[in-house]
Amino acid sequence: MLKEEDRSAGILLNITGNGKGKTTSAFGITIRALGWGWNVVFLQFVKGAVETGEKRFFASLNHPSLLFEQVGAGLSWHPGDHKGMAEAGWKRAEAFLRSGEVDLLVMDELNIALHYQWLSLDHVLDALKHRPPHQNVIITGRYAPAPLLDLSDLVSEIRSVKHPFDKGIPAIRGIDF
Ligand code: ATP
Ligand code: MG
Repeated sequence: MLKEEDRSAGILLNITGNGKGKTTSAFGITIRALGWGWNVVFLQFVKGAVETGEKRFFASLNHPSLLFEQVGAGLSWHPGDHKGMAEAGWKRAEAFLRSGEVDLLVMDELNIALHYQWLSLDHVLDALKHRPPHQNVIITGRYAPAPLLDLSDLVSEIRSVKHPFDKGIPAIRGIDF
């Protein structure tokens, strides 16, 4: 639970852009928040049953104030019921956006789900506007829609300068997943 002195107005952060570091930035803030005793919910949109280092780590950590869930159908360019999974994930998110118990809600890759119009942007904006005033929210992913950036208090756009992928090197375990 958030300490009384941390109970200032919560902020909305958006980490977007085509460079690497969006999701891992959200993990960094998650660690900080947990260190201060906050309740954190980390929902991974788009990603489905993907085995990742973070998933293994959070499972082994079994932290009492962290809930980590993958609510997606899998990589966005792979076939799957992306819209259905995004809608089900959003139902989960909406409940957390109404809960005064959640101090930090991360919606990883929500930008992508909005970009592909798997979710209604108006509904998302409305729920964000009406969340508990102390609640902090992080949204990540490429292609953040402009109205969402307008509502955000903090926007970072990570620009790719170089990435091994450009040389045909696939995702590296331990670095990328
Ligand atoms: P990370 O999870 O490492 O912080 P990210 O969240 O910024 O990355 P995503 O857009 O979610 O990046 O992409 C997911 C995967 O694509 C990751 O494995 C990431 O390393 C890789 N990736 C990120 N940026 C690029 C890029 N510019 N070119 C190719 N692949 C990338
Ligand atoms: Mg990501």
